[in-house]
Amino acid sequence: MTTSRMPTVFFGHGTPMIAMKQNETTRTWRAILEAMPRPKAILCVSAHWLTRGIGVTAQAHPPTIHDFGNFPQAMHEMRYPAPGSADLVARVGQLVAPDPVVPTDSWGFDHGCWTVLMKARPEADIPVIQLSLDATRSPADHFALGRRLRPLRDEGVLIMGTGNIVHDLSGVIRQDGVPARPYAENFSRAIKQAILADDADTVIGFERLGEDAARSVPTPDHFWPLLYTLGARHDDDQVSLATDFIEYSSIDMTTVMLTPRAIAA
Ligand code: ZN
Repeated sequence: MTTSRMPTVFFGHGTPMIAMKQNETTRTWRAILEAMPRPKAILCVSAHWLTRGIGVTAQAHPPTIHDFGNFPQAMHEMRYPAPGSADLVARVGQLVAPDPVVPTDSWGFDHGCWTVLMKARPEADIPVIQLSLDATRSPADHFALGRRLRPLRDEGVLIMGTGNIVHDLSGVIRQDGVPARPYAENFSRAIKQAILADDADTVIGFERLGEDAARSVPTPDHFWPLLYTLGARHDDDQVSLATDFIEYSSIDMTTVMLTPRAIAA
């Protein structure tokens, strides 16, 4: 059996400095893109674009945004020159209607998007658009938006979220090999178990996980992109955690991949 349905992926993106590295994580990201049918386009939902209302990048050639400070000049010179896609912008507008999606020239590829794609698809030859996170919406709303966008998977589009299950900058220790903080370990485990069990309610209701959730997700921006990937899930998708570790003690680098069974087999 063959299928044209695309996988959908949530990437744990970590520090922007990964753009300058080659390591097991970057090789895994590359392998993920190489293992799937070539996407016609990529819809990227990044933790780093928060708006009131839903925006989408509309340029023929979206700029690379260097939305960080105190990084080497080489980081500021990096570009991810993938084209945009007017067709995908229009299609996203159809799928999200009647809620409005506002095409804009005021954003581009932020580092949640381009630091991952630079490693996963260095050729930059697949059109990419970014969809913003409407900060006025609830977790259930973000999940529902992922569900509305799900038909794109049958149209050759890769829906990718990019953020972190645990993203607590106050707990970061910038050393390799430091152990994960207990609350981060607990929360990551609970969310991963829920994903593996196809228990979306627990992921949507992550705040009910109490103190572990409050410390692991001090602001929801890095968690929300996961809800788009899970919203785009089909019942028969195979789940895998392509990368699964916490770095710097409180940044969860877990990558969640949902693959149609006919491809996974
Ligand atoms: Zn980030």
